[in-house]
Amino acid sequence: MARVRATCNQCGDTELSIDDVSVRICREDHDGVYLFTCPECGLSHEKDASRRTLDLLVASGAEVVFWSVPMESLIDTGLGPLTHDHLLDFHEKLQDDALLESALGELVDD
Ligand SMILES: [Zn+2]
Repeated sequence: MARVRATCNQCGDTELSIDDVSVRICREDHDGVYLFTCPECGLSHEKDASRRTLDLLVASGAEVVFWSVPMESLIDTGLGPLTHDHLLDFHEKLQDDALLESALGELVDD
């Protein structure tokens, strides 16, 4: 069983079993954090880490949980309700191959 070293804000460096570490990764931007509970004092920690560190933790057997930004927070509520004018604009934009190709390219590049 892999052992990892983590730093507790209260106790300093501590050693944990990989079973005591979990990784949370955002589906949208793929950033993540790792979580552990200090075996000395019982404090729970959530720490930012590089993707390389998170990959190493996962490869060592840490549990992985994926999460998504709630859809409500991605919607621009300032736009108001969808109208026929919005649909007509959208329909016209779909007829423009260059515009569509450009928009799809942005998605692919992302
Ligand atoms: Zn501690």
